[in-house]
Amino acid sequence: MKAAILNESSKPLIVSNVDLPEKLQFGQVLVKVYYSGICGAQINEIDAVKGPDKFLPHLLGHEGSGIVQDIGPGVTTIKKNDHVVLHWRKSSGIQSPTPIYNWNKKKVNAGWVTTFNEYAVISENRLTAIPKDFDLKIAALFGCAITSGYGAVNNDAKVKIGQSVLIYGMGGMGLSIADACSLVSANPIVGIDLHQNKLELSKQFGVTETIINDNNEQVKNKIHKIFGEKGPEVVFETTGNSKLMENAYEMTPNNGKTVFVGVPNDKISIYSLPLAFDKKIEVSHGGDSIPDKEIPRYINLSRDKGIDFSKFITHEFNLDDINEALKLFRSGKAGRIILKINE
Ligand SMILES: [Zn+2]
Repeated sequence: MKAAILNESSKPLIVSNVDLPEKLQFGQVLVKVYYSGICGAQINEIDAVKGPDKFLPHLLGHEGSGIVQDIGPGVTTIKKNDHVVLHWRKSSGIQSPTPIYNWNKKKVNAGWVTTFNEYAVISENRLTAIPKDFDLKIAALFGCAITSGYGAVNNDAKVKIGQSVLIYGMGGMGLSIADACSLVSANPIVGIDLHQNKLELSKQFGVTETIINDNNEQVKNKIHKIFGEKGPEVVFETTGNSKLMENAYEMTPNNGKTVFVGVPNDKISIYSLPLAFDKKIEVSHGGDSIPDKEIPRYINLSRDKGIDFSKFITHEFNLDDINEALKLFRSGKAGRIILKINE
């Protein structure tokens, strides 16, 4: 089967034939992957931002959808032929050993979930079964993009009806956060980004006002103009850029909340005194989502309330063109990019 392999850090992925492990172990599930998303976590893995990568070569990808081909011993929550979402957050079921694939007689490592490969051995607790009539392309977004953004709003920030919100970065995560803020009737919902096209797109996700991030002082003036003396009640930072994290904290008023989405990997400098009063910082880890509880809710929402999650997808690529897709992701010009792994 075909897979994209990270053989060397900071280099293009190698798309090549890889052999599956010979047999499924306790808690493992074999899935034919149909669609996968791409997110910043894979870019960080490729660039080895957390330090030297001791798992090379390895497979990648942590949000996808597919159909179960076989189940290993002990698996009870998933059956053969189930349609499933592949997610990196833990759910119910067993946490299996991680699989080892084979590439030209070389061992290839993989985590509990990988999605940039045609078939994947996945840990039972990284899978959630979904109705067979639900669109698998949309389902891939529930592996990270939507659950993380919605979770950041619901579980971490706990945005209330009518609260004012400012969002730094209108990439896939920013759009998902805006959409969730719109579902809970936040007002206004203001988006900041470097790219005008992403700001335009964000209006389809409930963003009520946009600010182009061209000049720091002007941006601050525009924020003051929109939110007035009170300032935004909740400020989300989705880029992980240390300067923007500092800005997001600075623009949060003393009784407000800054939510850092993703794992910060840099030193930032903030004025800490307001933390002794009522200013709060939350760090959202994948929206602290609980996939097997939240994915069924979102599927029902889509079915009963006509929410069209396909608006998140701005580009689609085949697995062979994954390096092109990663380049587009790095350019910051895309919303959510979907890889068509099998169709
Ligand atoms: Zn992700």
